[in-house]
Amino acid sequence: MENTRSATDIFRLLADDTRVSILRAIAVAQHELEEVGSGAAELAFSEIYEHVDVENTSKLSYHLGELTGIYLQKSNGGYSLSHAGERIVRFILSGNYEQPSSFGPEPVDGVCVFCGEEALEAKLSHQFFRIDCTACEQQVTGQPISPAQVRTRDDESLLQSVKVRSAEDARQIQRGMCPECGAHLSVDVIAVPESPLPDADPFVVTSSCKECLREYNSPLTYSVVYHPASIAFHWDRGVDVTARGLWEFHEHLYEGRWTSEQKSSDPDEYEVVLRHGEDAVRLYLDSTATVVRTERVRGESGEFRHS
Ligand SMILES: [Zn+2]
Ligand SMILES: [Zn+2]
Repeated sequence: MENTRSATDIFRLLADDTRVSILRAIAVAQHELEEVGSGAAELAFSEIYEHVDVENTSKLSYHLGELTGIYLQKSNGGYSLSHAGERIVRFILSGNYEQPSSFGPEPVDGVCVFCGEEALEAKLSHQFFRIDCTACEQQVTGQPISPAQVRTRDDESLLQSVKVRSAEDARQIQRGMCPECGAHLSVDVIAVPESPLPDADPFVVTSSCKECLREYNSPLTYSVVYHPASIAFHWDRGVDVTARGLWEFHEHLYEGRWTSEQKSSDPDEYEVVLRHGEDAVRLYLDSTATVVRTERVRGESGEFRHS
């Protein structure tokens, strides 16, 4: 593996129609060849030659040589896509470099985390899916969305897909994995007493990726929603939290049913309580927001804190 090539060199390799069609042709041919349960097919030189419009075999051989090592890997069985080749060819095929078509503003269910009004509206803004409160005019949530995600869905199913992705991302983040690049995340719990969020949860979990530089922030309470103890607790009460978008948790935080508290320091320990009806699940977290212990409590009502 060559690690010394600059990003410019790597992208320059793709500034050629034949090479882009080679990558496409390999993806298409693999798609046609693959049988259920088989791994990615390797394509022989002759198979690629059949699928690519190129003058002669020596030209193809030259271009394959240029792509191999970065976008392709070569073995005795033939050529297949490397990690970078996969990422690039899926990006090209899905058209995810295009502008997504517009969406919204559409009213959505839920409560504003800042003012408690049921006045949420979703729309696409600069290629982000965002939800704003029309009562207090604050943004309550925003998340990246891909053009293919928008293009292949109607409004209802788009909204569902945003929930699915936010739940999946949150689960990976909670396990210390960057959803963008897969690298390990460094996690901190920070007290934000001046936060505009309800007093019920004065802590924010920041998870940062030192590799791709993405940063993810979440109220401490939300960071445990997709923990198995919470999923099971809510499931037993008829609620599938894995099908909910983060903005659908705002009412619990706003109304003080979900709370967080620092129980001890040095080492730091936090307690998150998620209440539902008369019952609650308590999750105890260490300084890296890892859940170390959980318990269920029956008849916890009367302890609600209203902000
Ligand atoms: Zn509001
Ligand atoms: Zn990353």
